[in-house]
Amino acid sequence: MAELKLSETRDLTRIERIGAHSHIRGLGLDDALEARKVSQGMVGQTSARKAAGVILEMIKEGKIAGRAVLLAGQPGTGKTAIAMGMAKSLGEETPFAMMAGSEIFSLDMSKTEALTQAFRKAIGVRIKEETEIIEGEVVEIQIDRPATSGAAAKTGKLTLKTTEMETVYDLGSKMIEGLSKEKVQSGDVIAIDKASGKITKLGRSFARSRDYDAMGPQTKFVQCPDGELQKRKEVVHCVTLHEIDVINSRTQGFLALFTGDTGEIRSEVREQIDSKVAEWREEGKAEIVPGVLFIDEVHMLDIECFSFLNRALENDMAPILVVATNRGITKIRGTNYKSPHGIPIDLLDRLLIISTQPYTEDEMRQILDIRCEEEDVGMSDEAKELLTKIGFETSLRYAIHLITAAALACQKRKGKLVEIVDVSRAYQLFVDIKRSTQFLIEYQEQFMFNEVPGEIEEDT
Ligand code: ATP
Repeated sequence: MAELKLSETRDLTRIERIGAHSHIRGLGLDDALEARKVSQGMVGQTSARKAAGVILEMIKEGKIAGRAVLLAGQPGTGKTAIAMGMAKSLGEETPFAMMAGSEIFSLDMSKTEALTQAFRKAIGVRIKEETEIIEGEVVEIQIDRPATSGAAAKTGKLTLKTTEMETVYDLGSKMIEGLSKEKVQSGDVIAIDKASGKITKLGRSFARSRDYDAMGPQTKFVQCPDGELQKRKEVVHCVTLHEIDVINSRTQGFLALFTGDTGEIRSEVREQIDSKVAEWREEGKAEIVPGVLFIDEVHMLDIECFSFLNRALENDMAPILVVATNRGITKIRGTNYKSPHGIPIDLLDRLLIISTQPYTEDEMRQILDIRCEEEDVGMSDEAKELLTKIGFETSLRYAIHLITAAALACQKRKGKLVEIVDVSRAYQLFVDIKRSTQFLIEYQEQFMFNEVPGEIEEDT
């Protein structure tokens, strides 16, 4: 029974969860920044994707700071998808931070602190460090494992002698994993980074087919020493300003980054870090990599946050700010004034606005095709046609949600392919907004706190 439970747990951990945007792998642009009709999981919305591509180029050039972009359009028109596409297209080193406007209303920290942290998560620092590298030829590798452990066991120690130095490693440590992968053997020329202990294989003059994992305890290989060199090497670390802040402000140092216990960071700490980074920049030891900060549902921010954004964008280290909203003309939170998208005019004036358009039936069909593939659901053409019609009449999101429900209905009747009956069943089981509203209008007297349409206050 216990064994059965164990195997069940293993099966469960193997399941990969599929997110709403997991099918998006980039913006799907060609070299001339033209949007391909269907590419990298992206369908249609060509002018918005092209505009996003131009912004990406500006980011990659790394020269401009403090630009802000607004993605505006109806719900479900791919604003978040485009922001995800941008994130995927950025290089590994360019930081991308994402938050929803509502996240600033946290009890743990003030609104401006939450925004400051978000900004600093989107600013990268490339720190260059010179370390001494010792190159030498491996003359001896000795593995000492407890006699009881198997050949592949990662306990015991490994002594590595080169023409330049002798180092003892703990088997099973990170360094040794690298060493095993590199298959360092007697006679190889290796470089050992004195600061980090990292081993890099440079060449090989003595070929042996076995790596240290295949050796037994007390195995010894000896090779005559021959030639050695000394060099200096540049090592580059990429961190975000927020990471530097946390490491310097918490007693548990970088561990706070994993526990999420970052709390508020004192402004003196930030000032010290900023002046240190400025110093490094002047000395040519570090450079700033402005990344992207994406704030979804930006209309949830209030007037204080908007004025903070205005000021923060003027900083020469500011990242590119991408915000998204599906609101039209609405009240600016914290005021009684109305403005387009609920954003004050002075901030709107700074934004490059990209608008997204509703999808055609064809485009919707293609997005649903991609989602079926992503969710590993086989569906007949007729069922897809029906699903597209439903999506077009209701919303793309609703149609996407029906895919899994229809697949379960199909499983239940032991079918192999999702057919029209399964989609109809899912459609009957789960109502869309239109039908839900219709139901409410018909039966509203039976609900609590119902209000007759027209009497609802404007700002609710
Ligand atoms: P809201 O205003 O409600 O936040 P949104 O404009 O951000 O909506 P998304 O969440 O991006 O809309 O889109 C809804 C779903 O459709 C997501 O699963 C998204 O990945 C997918 N989707 C939207 N547009 C595209 C597209 N052009 N190509 C592929 N998938 C898309």
